[in-house]
Amino acid sequence: MADYKMLIGGELVEAASGETFETFNPGTNEKLADLPRAGKEDAVKAIEAARKAFDEGPWPKLSGKERAEKLRAIAALIGDNAAMLAELEALDSGGTIRKASLADVPGAQQAFEWFAKLAEEQPDRADLPPAVFPQSENYRLYEPLGVCTGIIPWNFPFIMAAWKIAPALAAGNCSVIKPASYTSITALKLAQLITEADLLPPGVLNVLAGPGGTVGEELASNPMVDKVAFTGSTEVGRRIMQLASGTVKPVTLELGGKSANIVLDDADLDLAAAGVLFGTFFHGGQVCESGTRALVQRSIYDEFVSLLADRAGKIVLGNQLDMMTDIGPLVHRSQVETTERYVALGREEVGEPICGGSIPAGLPEGLAKENFFEPTIFVDVPNSAKIAQEEIFGPVLCVIPFDTDEEAIAIANDSIYGLAGGVQSGNLERAQKVAAGMRTGTVWINDYHMISPERPFGGYKQSGIGRELGTEGFDIYRQVKHVHVNPETSGRNNHIQYSALSANI
Ligand code: NAP
Ligand code: MG
Repeated sequence: MADYKMLIGGELVEAASGETFETFNPGTNEKLADLPRAGKEDAVKAIEAARKAFDEGPWPKLSGKERAEKLRAIAALIGDNAAMLAELEALDSGGTIRKASLADVPGAQQAFEWFAKLAEEQPDRADLPPAVFPQSENYRLYEPLGVCTGIIPWNFPFIMAAWKIAPALAAGNCSVIKPASYTSITALKLAQLITEADLLPPGVLNVLAGPGGTVGEELASNPMVDKVAFTGSTEVGRRIMQLASGTVKPVTLELGGKSANIVLDDADLDLAAAGVLFGTFFHGGQVCESGTRALVQRSIYDEFVSLLADRAGKIVLGNQLDMMTDIGPLVHRSQVETTERYVALGREEVGEPICGGSIPAGLPEGLAKENFFEPTIFVDVPNSAKIAQEEIFGPVLCVIPFDTDEEAIAIANDSIYGLAGGVQSGNLERAQKVAAGMRTGTVWINDYHMISPERPFGGYKQSGIGRELGTEGFDIYRQVKHVHVNPETSGRNNHIQYSALSANI
């Protein structure tokens, strides 16, 4: 028996096969729970349930205001259970309790509130001005797409679930979600809370747990699915696009990054050092938009590098449930191994890091030391080095010198990715010129990691397709229909328009 159930067609269920898999606290390696291990059969059932709910159920026909009420009730439910959800999120993912309680859980709640507001306020009909045809009335209808699936990574499991569920449901779609296998608990818990509170008609929301290779592939390829939204690695993103192409499904892809945080010589250096460290090491660097390349102007380079090293030494690693911990364990031992491989490569490519570089010594007793990694800084890194080009998804910063603003922009853009970036400067006009030159979906000036459900988020280049959040993140869940009405219901006038194209009909 699993400790948590999946949600399919309004029922909380085990996997059809009865199989389960274990999930762990990476801080201690203690087992947290047995979860149902869905297979293809469960994925198909969930998609069928969503299809039926969309084609025959009330949800897509409700008014935006009615849907908004349900989404606000989900937001309130998250708020009522915030402490429990934050603790589960921290335990299962290794993210700190600080992050879970200050960012993940309130961020998810805010996403439901934001998309409720859009469901209520965004019109589902908009008139168009008269077109070339003299006697016609034209308007747009905005309609839901149908069945929307969401495939979620392990770095921000709860907030990512909200980002996939809230806009889909707000626009009138039905949804099937699959969290990452390392971190499925909080999505399952949310499904349980929503079901027990009887907030949604059956099949409107379905939540599975199980492997990407089977469940995820079904969600991306099944012909009954109308759209797939994916957040994760660029490699799997390419696979999702291939799978979705079979029935020409629209995709939203939020993929990897190697973002540049540019420090100009007029920046407040203390503040900029804090910004660069926060931009890189928040959540152990397991953030797609982390500023893992710090581009530092040569005239302040040496001073800035020593500030970084001083401050990095004060970062506290420890139990993720302690409010004073800055970085907990990485999500899984495999992520530490990836980091170790890149750090070994960095030693070959550029030499010893100025701090970090290994599994930390001196962690409190009882912690699984092998799942932690020290904040690590390589300096004088050529932008062409592999550690500056490839996404590591661990606590590794590359510091790269530059001379002019133009050079900084060119280095920042010399990447296959284009998710985000930062500019740290005392001159807002200059900073905004640099920001305008950066080919990325977000730029933070004198800030970092500031993501709000009200602002669009997504990538240029191989960082993805489409924007989540903002009003853009609502529009991607709607179809646009153009309706042309000729008010003449009989007689010659209709005919005149056809006869211009076809003389003898
Ligand atoms: P991942 O391996 O791409 O997995 C992401 C999700 O896709 C998981 O739910 C996974 O399921 C599933 N999946 C794996 N193979 C699949 C397949 N063949 N078909 C369908 N689904 C499949 O990425 P991750 O390791 O979880 O996350 C780290 C990566 O995500 C990093 O590269 C990071 O940059 C990126 N990321 C990007 C953003 C963004 O907003 N741009 C945000 C977060 C993370 P299983 O867990 O069962 O394997
Ligand atoms: Mg876990």
